[in-house]
Amino acid sequence: MKPRGGYNVNPIGGPSLDIEKLAPPKMLCIPLSSKHLTFSELSVADGDTVTCGQTLAVDPESFSVPLIASCGGVVSLTKLDGHIVIENLSCPSDPAPTPEVPLHAPYDAGHAAENRQKLLELGAWRFVSNARTHKVADPEGKPSAVIVSIVHLEPFVAHGGAICKDKVDELVRGMEHLQSLLEYQTIHLVMPDVKNALAQKIQETIRGHAWLKLSEVPLQMRYPFDNQTLLARHLGLFDKGGETVWYIPAAGVLAFDNALSYGQPTTTSRISLAGPVVKEPKHLEVKIGHPIADILDGRLNRDQDVRVINGGILTGVQIPAEQTGVGVECSGITVLETPTVREMFGWLRPGADRRSFSKCFLSALKGTFKENLSTSLRGEGRPCVSCGHCVEVCPAGIMPNLIHKYLFSDELELAQKLRTDLCVECGLCSYVCLSKIDLYDQMARAKVQIAEELGQPEDQQVTEEPETEVLV
Ligand code: SF4
Ligand code: SF4
Repeated sequence: MKPRGGYNVNPIGGPSLDIEKLAPPKMLCIPLSSKHLTFSELSVADGDTVTCGQTLAVDPESFSVPLIASCGGVVSLTKLDGHIVIENLSCPSDPAPTPEVPLHAPYDAGHAAENRQKLLELGAWRFVSNARTHKVADPEGKPSAVIVSIVHLEPFVAHGGAICKDKVDELVRGMEHLQSLLEYQTIHLVMPDVKNALAQKIQETIRGHAWLKLSEVPLQMRYPFDNQTLLARHLGLFDKGGETVWYIPAAGVLAFDNALSYGQPTTTSRISLAGPVVKEPKHLEVKIGHPIADILDGRLNRDQDVRVINGGILTGVQIPAEQTGVGVECSGITVLETPTVREMFGWLRPGADRRSFSKCFLSALKGTFKENLSTSLRGEGRPCVSCGHCVEVCPAGIMPNLIHKYLFSDELELAQKLRTDLCVECGLCSYVCLSKIDLYDQMARAKVQIAEELGQPEDQQVTEEPETEVLV
């Protein structure tokens, strides 16, 4: 499918590639649910003493992917709703140095089933997703191809360069471990530039090349073409229809290396801390469950009237007051200013300091510049004005404005006919919408509702790929 749509947002406050490693906090607050995972089966009881790496709970709907204790300590199940709290932490701030392992992973295809099980038990399998559904892939499944990506284009989420910083050997070895789990399927490594120094180093280091293909993101790295479904479409991996393609981000490949080279679970995450009110936007290395208030303490220009978002500005969601720790799928924390004075007709006059997707505003004369984003809606709620911007940017080639109208009038079958299932949940339609309609949320909910009410399993909706662009 020919790439279409997409748009790059250019905000002030993006994270630098600097990485600050935070010392373990006084206690960990590990959320029991995240975007794709719900750890509903607990493996520990209130007051239990756990060790670092022990399983705390599993997600029975996702092949029993475990939630791992990122430090040893005493479990509290009652202190915070929806969390496992670990107190009296026993993790040293300077863990013992990891033993040296050979540069290359042994080719271990004879132990593929055992190694997959080990990856599952050590929590590394949660990074392997089905590129159609974005859900955890079947550990016993056989993909037709695998995509490994070190590109993250959404503004403010952890940068692939920061995740892999000083970890090229681990990345290469992780991919070699991955290859041992497969038969002869190709691994497509998606990079910002296949000729840059990192790409060359990987090609020089990796054991053999036949199984690895380097690819770039289409449309000059335009957001959201780093999305796993769009990448698989772009690489022609869905051309036959019904294929299973695995997607693994760079952090997942590093977790593979941790599990299979060192026998260890991954208990830390490299996340971004970004946004215009962050004093020093950069990356942080934190324990999963690190309290968010502790992370923000002293790092913001202002403490009041801010919105804290789990993830980037386009697909992130506001962190509810009751969630207090970094979750397993957290890719970054974004902090935006929340203006307290309503801007009347603000959408009519975005001015020279704000960009608008619409070319008819003063800011268009300035060309590309970084803008200061806030949560302002620029005026009160408005109905759709049929400007067509959401259709123009939608990379899935569907019509969010029309689907919105059908959903508004409860015409679910008509929304289904417009291929709501093809939405890749990039959030661009909401971003460019002049009326600031939350189309992204509506699309995501409608996909689930269509699956439930029209009796079509969600993971089968997208097996029928569009041969040409859906948009006419
Ligand atoms: S409809 Fe879906 S794929 Fe299209 S722009 Fe909106 S969120 Fe992105
Ligand atoms: S961008 Fe918003 S106002 Fe414009 S057509 Fe789409 S839904 Fe309507």
